[in-house]
Amino acid sequence: MEMPDTIKVYCPYCKSVTLHKVKPYKKGKTRTLSRGQRHHEEKTKGYTSKIAGKVPVYKQAKRQVVVLECTVCHKKHYRTIGSRTKKTLQLEKTER
Ligand SMILES: [Zn+2]
Repeated sequence: MEMPDTIKVYCPYCKSVTLHKVKPYKKGKTRTLSRGQRHHEEKTKGYTSKIAGKVPVYKQAKRQVVVLECTVCHKKHYRTIGSRTKKTLQLEKTER
């Protein structure tokens, strides 16, 4: 999937259409002291591997998420593009 690296979209903070930088979304580090993580650690205490529970469902492809950074207010918001694809996101350079 190809996308230009700068696009003009609506900024919810400026409340107007401005130029945005496009970057691929990366998952951040999980917090070790969050409620869900503490709950999980308490549940798996004393076990070395997985415990019984819901089996995770693995989808064959992912929806692409991009991070849009406003060039006016420098705030970030997210957008999912297209449907599920196995193709990785490629950013094209645009000359302005
Ligand atoms: Zn803005």
